[in-house]
Amino acid sequence: MKKKNLFFGGLFKNIIFIVLIFISLGVLLSFLNPSLFKKDTTEEISIPKLAQYINDGEVSKVEVLKNDVTVYLLDETVLKIKKEEGITLTENLSYYNIEESKLQEVNFVYKEDVSEAFVFFLLMIGLPFILILIFFFFFLKKTKGSLNQTFDFTKTKAKLLSRNLKDKVTFKNVAGLKEEKEELSEVVDFLKSPEKYLKMGAKIPKGILLVGPAGCGKTLLARAVAGESNVPFFYVSGSSFMELFVGVGSSRVRSLFENAKKQQPCLIFIDELDSIGKARGLSISGGNEEREQTLNQLLTEMDGFEKNDKIIILGATNRLDVLDPALLRPGRFDRKVVVNLPDIKEREEILNIHATSKPLDEKVNLREVAERTPGFTGADLENVMNESAILTVKNKESKIVQKSILESIEKVLLGPEKKSKILSKEEKAIAAYHESGHALVASFVPNSEPVRKISIISRGLAAGYTLQVPEKERNFKRRSDFISEIAVLLGGYLSEQMIFGEVSSGASEDLRRASHLARKIVKELGMSSLGPVTFGEREREVFLGYESNESKNYSEETSVKIDSEVKNIIFEAEKKAKDILERKKDILEKVTKELIARETLEREEYEKIIK
Ligand code: ADP
Ligand code: MG
Ligand code: ZN
Repeated sequence: MKKKNLFFGGLFKNIIFIVLIFISLGVLLSFLNPSLFKKDTTEEISIPKLAQYINDGEVSKVEVLKNDVTVYLLDETVLKIKKEEGITLTENLSYYNIEESKLQEVNFVYKEDVSEAFVFFLLMIGLPFILILIFFFFFLKKTKGSLNQTFDFTKTKAKLLSRNLKDKVTFKNVAGLKEEKEELSEVVDFLKSPEKYLKMGAKIPKGILLVGPAGCGKTLLARAVAGESNVPFFYVSGSSFMELFVGVGSSRVRSLFENAKKQQPCLIFIDELDSIGKARGLSISGGNEEREQTLNQLLTEMDGFEKNDKIIILGATNRLDVLDPALLRPGRFDRKVVVNLPDIKEREEILNIHATSKPLDEKVNLREVAERTPGFTGADLENVMNESAILTVKNKESKIVQKSILESIEKVLLGPEKKSKILSKEEKAIAAYHESGHALVASFVPNSEPVRKISIISRGLAAGYTLQVPEKERNFKRRSDFISEIAVLLGGYLSEQMIFGEVSSGASEDLRRASHLARKIVKELGMSSLGPVTFGEREREVFLGYESNESKNYSEETSVKIDSEVKNIIFEAEKKAKDILERKKDILEKVTKELIARETLEREEYEKIIK
């Protein structure tokens, strides 16, 4: 702010300065050639004519300034003559017979020409001087601009969002998240009337951390808090503190807090906090110094709050595990608000919010859409509604129908259909047996989720897909559920093996997922004969980026046992799947035949076949 005033002051001074230059320049020029500025309407006459005027007694006054002669007649007309160079006017006039008496009646005034020498002198010294001044003025102005930019470099990049934004976000725009909103409305109330709390001696949290997976509405929630409380809102992304140069980040943090302190009460929102808040000393890849300095500055600023500062800092991250523990200590981000994946009711609400501005067909049932989208984030759901609108335009329909929305779910889930990617007849058969294998196992294994759709049209990276959708939300899964899940994953592989006697490369992703799941069951969930122990601590390693490494806190002996347990689990699931496929081989053939013919089977068609 200070800097700004100075700049404006400077600008004002500069304007006065340049006006003065122009005025003096103008004055100088007018000295140089007075006629330039006086409107010259006077008639020019010749010397003989003047002689005649004098003889006629019409002249009252003659002014001589070097070669310029001005003649004032009695009737107040003014005339001009150019005198010949080298002789005086009287000498000149003496060639024309003018009566002596008449000549004496005329008042001759000889003006001394001091000004010209003076002007010449001024120009000699003054003009270069003025030019230098002008040059300096522009030069300074330019460098000042770039100087300001350099200063700005260390300034915060925080966006100060205006309070009267047209697209202001309030809690109304956030669907679901009831508890989270309740918790944050405390903050809103404090920001609205801080005195109430300060008088009571209440301590208001300085830092609140929004934690949750990407796309669940953390940023949205923070903006809603700002919208509700109607205070200045500094929005800054953690990554914007990072620049190539060491020290830039920390001075940006400093300037952010300086600005905020001047606008209390206010809200600072640091999005993607993990990009600066990563635990210090964690990476060996360099570029660390800068982040550490920035983080330290942030910690210092948060500690430096006065007791009755009315600033609240919101942070958002989806990686709580990598945050530096110092950030989470009391007095800093000591409150956490967990923003989780929406449940079915919340999904319906979110869909409703994002459907408001779109023309929906009356038969659209958003509840069904919510049912079919477990695990979707708010951002995914927004995407579904958007895709359905795009699809509607593409189909040249006037309203969004249910079918478009359901199709969009799959597009968001799997990427667009690639109808142009044509499989050969042989490949088609492999894909069909593979997908039918998944589907069949899914239908006959205990506790499995129903098959919603089977397709051998490639989509995204997958050559075909079998969609299963849970009928109800599941918060916990039991061991048998996991075994069923692995069995379904192996269904494609086993079906191929059973029919063709060998396996294609299309099963690799299934196998990877199955193995990963089995390993998790043994190492993290304690669901094996190794007992209720977890193996492999995700510890903070100081010298290696621990994100890629887990520390192995078990012996080689245990490692061997884990491997054999993992194998056992896979075998158990494989046996289950194999049993089903062998028992239901005729159904497998039927489903496959139908799938090759139609390429996609919806739930109803599929269920008719397996009945
Ligand atoms: P995050 O910051 O958690 O990654 P965002 O807040 O950026 O997620 O959410 C992305 C988008 O998803 C939002 O702009 C919003 O349109 C939508 N969204 C997410 N959660 C909700 C919700 N609870 N209600 C309405 N829209 C939501
Ligand atoms: Mg975000
Ligand atoms: Zn598969």
